[in-house]
Amino acid sequence: MDSFASFDAPSPCLDALDAPEAAERRALMSRSLAFMFAAGGLLTFLLFLALPHPEADVTGMLFVVGVTFALTGWMIARGERIPAGAYPWLIVCGTVLITAGIQFRGEPTAAHALFYLWIVFYSFYFFPRVVALGQLALVLAGFGLVLTLADEPPGEALELWLLSGGTLLLSAILVSALKHELDGMVGRLADEARTDPLTKLLNRRGFEEAFELELERGRRNDHSLSVLIGDLDGFKQVNDRFGHHMGDRALARASEVLSHEKRRIDTVARLGGEEFAMIVPETDGRHAFMLAERLRTALKEAFADEPLPLTISFGVSSSPAQGKSRQELLGAADDALYAAKELGRDRTVIYSREVIGVLTPVNGRNGKRNEQLATVVALAQTLDIRDERTARHSQTVARYCELIANTLELPAATVERVRLAGLLHDVGNIAISNMLLSKPGPLSEQDWDELRRHSEIGARILANARLGDIGEWVLAHHERIDGAGFPFGIANGSIPLEARILAVADAFEAMTSERPHRPALTFEEARAELLRNSGTQFDAEVVGALMRALAEKRVQA
Ligand code: GH3
Ligand code: MG
Ligand code: MG
Repeated sequence: MDSFASFDAPSPCLDALDAPEAAERRALMSRSLAFMFAAGGLLTFLLFLALPHPEADVTGMLFVVGVTFALTGWMIARGERIPAGAYPWLIVCGTVLITAGIQFRGEPTAAHALFYLWIVFYSFYFFPRVVALGQLALVLAGFGLVLTLADEPPGEALELWLLSGGTLLLSAILVSALKHELDGMVGRLADEARTDPLTKLLNRRGFEEAFELELERGRRNDHSLSVLIGDLDGFKQVNDRFGHHMGDRALARASEVLSHEKRRIDTVARLGGEEFAMIVPETDGRHAFMLAERLRTALKEAFADEPLPLTISFGVSSSPAQGKSRQELLGAADDALYAAKELGRDRTVIYSREVIGVLTPVNGRNGKRNEQLATVVALAQTLDIRDERTARHSQTVARYCELIANTLELPAATVERVRLAGLLHDVGNIAISNMLLSKPGPLSEQDWDELRRHSEIGARILANARLGDIGEWVLAHHERIDGAGFPFGIANGSIPLEARILAVADAFEAMTSERPHRPALTFEEARAELLRNSGTQFDAEVVGALMRALAEKRVQA
């Protein structure tokens, strides 16, 4: 009977069910079993009263009825808490009780086999096939035993056994066939409920379930996970100009491109309308960005020859950076998608608080400046993709800039501008070789010369993007109060305040983070270093502001 062990393995039917549906099935199993036992006990008792058989064993009959009612009571009391593995054994008890009942009543008849039919129906409906076949074998053996024990002529006994056995077997086959059809139907319905009929991709419900599963897997294995949300650009126009039918075809084509370009482990879904999402397991934000860019380019190429070329914008967020729950990650990816749309569409934006902050209008300023920003943000992002450490550096410098500017009580618009400068201050690194940026050990004079070029290159890039004001601050962010800085060696009053803020924020972040050529200073050591150079390298007022801001933050924390 060790085939019973397989009962705990999920049957294909249970597998297709949601947790609440599986619980419902559990309840159905316990209720119907209790009902069967109650009905069996009652019927046996009534038959015994109404039609007493002269050869009946009264004590034996009462014992069978008593045990049947006791088991019924236990089942009702336990309800759904009956462990899954107990059901086959309860059915075995049923077979034993029926067999004993027939034996104690004396003189078996064909009608008695009707009781065994209950066992067959229940087993073949609820149990895996092997378990059910085991139960049928036990039934046939039990009935065979009573027939052998009764002193009937062997010919009649065999006829009775064959006829009953054949009927039971046929019932088993019919119930199995019905069950098979039902399982298929349940499976198909479950699939349909998760599938978008137009694109055959997962729909929102299927996506959410798959997302939860991947998040759980990621948590268990401590893996990062990213999510992309993509929205077709200007899709309304396709419908307006070519009709809904063409719109639908474009949606189907777009989903084909996404499915084709994704990796095998990625899951793509249509969230609704012309919005798609992709779960990208075991992938950090940088690699997810690269995947999104590949998808975006593929889609653009696929639609390049169409009468109305279609493009897509993507927002990217990653776990654990942007949170660990589905809601947090989708919210962040949505914000990044919004930023991608704001920056001019047909692009990918990775979520970062800074980029999103830049796009939130301050004092109702219009969105026009966003167009100039687009190029630079894209550039900064390219840089971030190249080196994760750079991304963290720029974002932290942006936060320090914001802190200092707020503490100095600069106007809100300036605070935002300075923060943007922090985000972009290293954009000139795009022209510096990767090797130099990650070089371990001390740098040579030549290396320094090359590194020093980055503020000039950055300023030029920013000026070209019509962000000249920020460009000027970036140009001067390595100047020193005492005039010993670069590139021009200008001193105190000639250095814009914003550049002096940038210098302090940049230096403080650099000191407190580990670099290829030296370990990180502690917070206290960095503070002391800033104070020591305050008034020579750094603006004393700016250093003071950062110290105050940090002290306040610590008190709050
Ligand atoms: P944006 O670049 O800002 O995303 O502009 P958009 O026009 O793509 O966005 P908007 O949300 O204004 O319009 C989405 C349109 O997508 C509206 C609707 O006509 C169309 N759409 C949504 N679902 C379907 C669909 O199942 N079939 C078709 N043919 N069109 C759909
Ligand atoms: Mg759209
Ligand atoms: Mg949309």
